[in-house]
Amino acid sequence: MPVFVSKFGGSSLADGERFLRVLRLVKSHPARRIVVLSAPGKREKDDMKITDQLIKCARTQNRADFYPVQKRFSEIADCLGVSIQNDLNEAEALVFSGAGEAAAASRGEWLSTKIFSKASGFYFLDAKDAVFFSGENVDEEKTSKRILSAFEKNKSIVLPGFYGADEKNNLYLFPRGGSDTTGAIAAYAVKADVYENWTDVNGIFDKDPNLFGNAQILPSLSYDEAERILLSGACVLSADCISWARKSSTPILVKNTFFPEKSGTRIGF
Ligand code: ASP
Repeated sequence: MPVFVSKFGGSSLADGERFLRVLRLVKSHPARRIVVLSAPGKREKDDMKITDQLIKCARTQNRADFYPVQKRFSEIADCLGVSIQNDLNEAEALVFSGAGEAAAASRGEWLSTKIFSKASGFYFLDAKDAVFFSGENVDEEKTSKRILSAFEKNKSIVLPGFYGADEKNNLYLFPRGGSDTTGAIAAYAVKADVYENWTDVNGIFDKDPNLFGNAQILPSLSYDEAERILLSGACVLSADCISWARKSSTPILVKNTFFPEKSGTRIGF
């Protein structure tokens, strides 16, 4: 049976309806057995991203700033018919414990994943126990072993993107947008057949669509071509995840959560 790692970005998870859409997409293909999630992003242009709000909470240590986080996750959990209150209490306690910005910022992905796990029955694998940093780099061997063994044992797992733990077991973040990298690491660890990266555009454009009305989606790219485009500023995918995919020759498929019938961009096929 093939294995897909399916990563969903913040705009795909911004509210309850979108979460439900993601759940349906995952359930619609039996190979989608490893899911990696971002924190809820913007619902519309001027909305806030949960990660930004959590960083604000860490800085202000003002509990009133946690309210929008609480509200968004409660609404999502209600829509999915699961309870998230205990996890929200736990996250709030951590954010206001003085544990720092990384710990606070990581709670967006952690809460998304808790909700998805309850709604889907996928095993919750905390990135703190699965993605190990040694300095700024990921400890490849330890991380791969842990993800693979959790997958073999549980058959379908969901893992928060964006963070892991350092040598002292403190939470440690990838750069912003880093859930893409977590997805690529998971795909590397289990030797996935495909790494699906689900986002809110139809794929990778040949030029910036905000500047050029005639920008076109590129149907297929080599790893080198994708890396060049991403390093030159296209922010559909974090450039880091290409090197992980290249190492394990995992093909990447960039797809639009809102138009799954579109063919997307294939990288390294
Ligand atoms: N939530 C984090 C961010 O906003 C990481 C991610 O979405 O990949 O950057």
